[in-house]
Amino acid sequence: MKRLLQRACMACACLLPFTAAMAQSATTATVAKPPDRRIAITFDDLPWATLDSNTPLPAHGTVPPRIAAEFTRLLQAIKNSGTPAIGFVNSARLLVHGQPQPDRVGMLDAWLDAGLELGNHTATHVDLHAVGKQAFENDILACDAVLRPLLAKRDLQPHWFRHPYLRTGRTLQDKAAIKTFLTRHGYRIAPVTITDSDWIWAAAYAKALDSGDTAMQAKLRAQYVPYLLRMVHYFEHRSTKLLGYALPQVMLLHANALNADTYADFVSRLHARGYRFVSLDEAMRDPAYQRADTFTGALGTSWIHRWAIAAGWSWKFYDGEPTSPKWVIDLAGVPAYSE
Ligand SMILES: [Zn+2]
Repeated sequence: MKRLLQRACMACACLLPFTAAMAQSATTATVAKPPDRRIAITFDDLPWATLDSNTPLPAHGTVPPRIAAEFTRLLQAIKNSGTPAIGFVNSARLLVHGQPQPDRVGMLDAWLDAGLELGNHTATHVDLHAVGKQAFENDILACDAVLRPLLAKRDLQPHWFRHPYLRTGRTLQDKAAIKTFLTRHGYRIAPVTITDSDWIWAAAYAKALDSGDTAMQAKLRAQYVPYLLRMVHYFEHRSTKLLGYALPQVMLLHANALNADTYADFVSRLHARGYRFVSLDEAMRDPAYQRADTFTGALGTSWIHRWAIAAGWSWKFYDGEPTSPKWVIDLAGVPAYSE
C-alpha cells in the first residue's frame, strides 16, 4: 500500500496551456477523434483499509459500527455510480483465531451481491521483497483458501492477483517464478497504471473523523477529488507519450472512508472528461498489457513507467507526477517523504 518515495513536485507538461501552433492546427485541420478514455477501478485491502485511525479493523471481536457504516457507504456509492470495480482481499482481515468471521465475510458477500468482483491480495499483505518467494507463495495460497470457497458458493473463481506494495520481485527470476506460480493456480497479475497516494489522504481524513472536525473533513473531500483527477490526467499523458494513445487505465484506490465519501463526485467528474468505466478484464485486453515488465525495484510505481524503463526510457520519463500537499501529509502523520 505504501509508496517508498514520493517524487518532488515538478512542472507537469500535460498542464501547459495550448500553444499558438496547437490553436492554429485546431482551426485548420480535420477535427481529431477524441481519445477513447476508459478506466478500470480497483480497490485494495478489502474488507477495509485503515491507517492511523482510532478505529482500525481489530484483530479480534466484531467489526466496529463506524467501519461497518463506512463500508456500506462505499458500497452504496459504487452501486449508485454504476461502475464496475474489483476489490482485492487480504483474507487474514476476515479471521479471528484462524476462523472466518460472519460479519467480516458478510462485507465481502455484500460486495459480491452488488455485482462487483474480488481478487487475491495475499492473506497478510506480505511484502515479496521482504519475505522471499516461498513465504509469498504460501501467503497467496492462504488467501486463496478463504477466497475460493467464498466465490465457489456463487459458481465463481478468483482470477486476479494484486501484489501488495506493487512489489513484484527483486530479480527477474523471482518475477518469472511468481508469475508461473500464479498461472498454475488460475491467476493473472493485475497491474496498476494510475498509482496515487489515496492512503495518505485517507489517513488524514480518518484523523478528521476521529476529532469530529467537520470543516477539515469537507476541505479534504474538496481537495482530494481534484488531486485524483490530476493523477488521471498525468497518467493519461504518460500513456500517450509512451504508447501514442490513451490506454484503458487501471487505477488503484483503497477501501476507506474518504473514497466512500468522494466516489460519486470523482466518477461524475471523470464522466465529464469523457471517461467510460470498464472492467479489469476489458482494460487488460489492450495490447499494451502484453509489454515487458522487467522492473525489480521497490517503488510501487505505475506499469506505464515500468514499460517505459523496459523500453529504454530514463527515470526522467516519470518527472512531473503530482504530489499530495504537505498539509495533508502532516495531518496524516505519515513519515516524511523525500525525493
Ligand atoms: Zn494493499
